[in-house]
Amino acid sequence: MNALSSQNLLSAQSPDRRVTIGLDPLEEIRQLSDARQLVCPFCEAPVVLHAGAVRAHHFAHLPGARCRLPQTEPETMEHREGKLRIAQWLQQKLPGARVVVEAYLPETGQRADVLVMLPEHPFGKIVLEFQCANLSAREWRRRHRLYRSAGVSDLWFLGGSRLRPADSAPGQIITLRTTELERAMLWDGAPLLFLDVDGTLLPADTLARFRPDAEAQAILPQGRLSMKPLEALDFPLALLDWPNAPDPQFPVVRTHAPQALPDSGGTVSSSDFWLWEWLARRYRVT
Ligand SMILES: [Zn+2]
Ligand SMILES: [Zn+2]
Repeated sequence: MNALSSQNLLSAQSPDRRVTIGLDPLEEIRQLSDARQLVCPFCEAPVVLHAGAVRAHHFAHLPGARCRLPQTEPETMEHREGKLRIAQWLQQKLPGARVVVEAYLPETGQRADVLVMLPEHPFGKIVLEFQCANLSAREWRRRHRLYRSAGVSDLWFLGGSRLRPADSAPGQIITLRTTELERAMLWDGAPLLFLDVDGTLLPADTLARFRPDAEAQAILPQGRLSMKPLEALDFPLALLDWPNAPDPQFPVVRTHAPQALPDSGGTVSSSDFWLWEWLARRYRVT
């Protein structure tokens, strides 16, 4: 298993600023840690950098410390990588924004995977949740409403490991395997976005969106996937307004010119073809 200890942090507080593994230079972080200048952002107990070869870099409390950090989901390599990729992407696409990984929101008592603060913007506070573990519909709705009640716009990316098409055919619709989390999101009008950080199904760091054709509440909803490398995607501010958001065209990847495939009975879009190629490679779907 690749589960990491729950109190391993990617982010720590130095006397004058927040430092984050993966966002700040490791050498600076190491010096702060060696000088015992880092504390947990939540309980303010000392933390040190653990940077072993086997375990991924993280901050750890000293033995015996008891942290009151709210834990929202078990830490895994996928979850950790996703938080970092999202934070890097936000820093790149929203210059001027303050991006905090593993942010504690005192107003709701929640711990957000990534918090974005945009001064003087209608969406002043944005939370990006990267959800890899299972979550009940009730708990997802509770967390969503709590954010919104505090004026925080929440947007959810699901882990690529949750993207499990039951079948697919070129130029045709995908059948998606779902849990109650995906069904609740579709039902409530949330955009169903999957971020594949380690290339489980799609090329690494692809963001895919599933749009159901009908029956959002079906166990196996059918619909279409569109996708784009995260790197090439601007931050979709329009999506923050769900469920009232209009459905902006989610960009599709153009790695292949549109072309007809045998037996497809017509022309397929480039994104369909691209997806098909990947499915065929991964699952030997024919
Ligand atoms: Zn702590
Ligand atoms: Zn998460």
